[in-house]
Amino acid sequence: MASIFSKIIAGEIPSYKIYEDDKTYAFLDINPETKGHTLVVPKVEVDKIYELSDDDYFALWASVKKISRHIEDVTGRRVVMKVIGTDVPHAHVHLMPLDESWEYGKTLSLTEDEFKTIAEKLAL
Ligand code: 5GP
Repeated sequence: MASIFSKIIAGEIPSYKIYEDDKTYAFLDINPETKGHTLVVPKVEVDKIYELSDDDYFALWASVKKISRHIEDVTGRRVVMKVIGTDVPHAHVHLMPLDESWEYGKTLSLTEDEFKTIAEKLAL
């Protein structure tokens, strides 16, 4: 069965998209720890990042770099990354522009309008 992220990439489940290329897709995390918390996902569905082919692995980290620099440019915030992967068995990297309110693992409740505004601001 396709993962929830494959369904998002296929457009079967809506997402607040930030970026897409032929190998990767990035969108806002629905349970953000900071405003702008983004997930970068390889289009190919594997559970663990280290299961990716070299091509897909390098494409993922190239997107992580590009998107992180863009988020920092737009927000003025240092972007931190984490790789957990215990909830969704489809490899992904979390990017979070840090602000004063950030606490590891504590999530924010954002309205649909807030998600839309952030996605428009961060899209590239
Ligand atoms: P991890 O697997 O790295 O522990 O966490 C998976 C992340 O995916 C969580 O931060 C969770 O909020 C996010 N997530 C799970 N399902 C969805 C979804 O349907 N849409 C979005 N945008 N994020 C999701």
